[in-house]
Amino acid sequence: MNEDNECLDNCSNQCGRITDDKPGEECAVFCIYGHSNAAEMTYLGLYALQHRGQESTGIVTSNGKDMYYHRGLGLVSEVFGDQGIFKYLKGNMAIGHNRYSTTGSNRARNVQPLMAADRNGQIATGHNGNLTNTRQLYEELVKKGAIFQTTLDSELIIHLAAMSKKTTFIDRLIDALNKVEGAYCIVMLTKDSVIAARDPHGFRPLCLGKADKAWVVASETCALDIIGAQYVRDVEPGEIITIDKSGVHSLKPFKPQKKLFCIFEYVYFSRPDSFIFGDCVDKARRKIGHMLAKESPVDADMVISVPDSSNTAALGYSKATGIPFEIGLIRNHYIGRTFIHPSQVTRDAKVRIKFNPIRGVLEGKKIVVVEDSIVRGTTFRKIAKLLRDAGAKEIHLRVSSPPIISPCFYGMDFPTREELLASSMSVEEIRKHMGVDSLSYLSLEGLKSSVPNGDNSYCTACFSGEYPTKLPVGCQKSCLEDDTPNSHIIDAQSLRYEND
Ligand code: SF4
Repeated sequence: MNEDNECLDNCSNQCGRITDDKPGEECAVFCIYGHSNAAEMTYLGLYALQHRGQESTGIVTSNGKDMYYHRGLGLVSEVFGDQGIFKYLKGNMAIGHNRYSTTGSNRARNVQPLMAADRNGQIATGHNGNLTNTRQLYEELVKKGAIFQTTLDSELIIHLAAMSKKTTFIDRLIDALNKVEGAYCIVMLTKDSVIAARDPHGFRPLCLGKADKAWVVASETCALDIIGAQYVRDVEPGEIITIDKSGVHSLKPFKPQKKLFCIFEYVYFSRPDSFIFGDCVDKARRKIGHMLAKESPVDADMVISVPDSSNTAALGYSKATGIPFEIGLIRNHYIGRTFIHPSQVTRDAKVRIKFNPIRGVLEGKKIVVVEDSIVRGTTFRKIAKLLRDAGAKEIHLRVSSPPIISPCFYGMDFPTREELLASSMSVEEIRKHMGVDSLSYLSLEGLKSSVPNGDNSYCTACFSGEYPTKLPVGCQKSCLEDDTPNSHIIDAQSLRYEND
């Protein structure tokens, strides 16, 4: 990556990728029990959850006897583009996973769901989140002879469960989860059940739904909507749900902990059509825009958003101020993850490939631009220049979150503290750097008062720098490195080739 967070043509990955200046989600999970088209339902669920991870995806199914899997690097539509794969993913229960990752050589080894076997048989696991005591657990397990095949936190959990002296798999899983710290939403598949677990702080969202007789668990409710499932409730922080032929069973085996929902889910990560942490994301995001307008009004001709993630907050800002909302920037949705730009394309043109301003709307106008967050500031700086070149008379940047000053250790991929613009620059310095006429961020108090559940139920560490849980010294992210064998685990792709 260069200083603008764009993958260079001559970098080792050779991907020519143009990235957003946004933190990345580190995964989505989905599971279903009791559906004759379990694999296809999981595919649809993962499709709806694509925004939470675009690096790789996978589905594992079980027919009560064997497990079948198909996984790969790429988007859900790319990995499962050949619909013929579904007839080889047999069974009425399945789990699925989308992964976001920036790691290079380990990407293929880290595709989830991860598969393993212990004394109770095969287990497939998908994980959203980030454990914070990974290094310590890893060193302990390696000393005991564990051999790791991935860099995934999930593999630690599987090892810990396999080493537990308890008899049943659920008791061994509880043992394992009692040893881990940090953020997790996990889905697991055994040959005759699905299991879902959420960490006691509830950092990431996880919901339970029902589609006729089938039970579904997903990271966000948009994955329920796509398969026509009804939202039943959230999986509670610290809850383990098992679903088998006798129904849904809930366990709450952990000491209750303070709720620490990730407030950034409401700002940017979750889809506006999802219902998370007990409320609608769209509703919360509009309130956030409303609060931003209350705190930082400005005399302007129009409000525009940086599409798509800032649209809802911009609508909230517009409604609160009475300044009309206009479409001033068009986003190209067809670039894909690995757009290869021609080598002669200039830096400014690269951002124009993604965003193009509408001169007829902007020329001679005083505009408020609502952006949900600023990480390195690289993309918005270029957008500001594009807006200016398109004739905007004044540009007033309003950010619908507080300045990001610290990285996340609970499942989001942030750059290092040094790369975070607001960690070393004042608001005025950032304004000048961005080349805008005025700049205001939403206050942390304003953000907390705009979201449901009361302001004590959230993690706000990336904005405050105050981490609500113990972090090991030097902890950055998952500390491990990243396939999976197993005799009763069947690669649907190979099976298809055998049958074809
Ligand atoms: S540090 Fe920020 S992104 Fe991470 S869980 Fe806390 S609020 Fe969410």
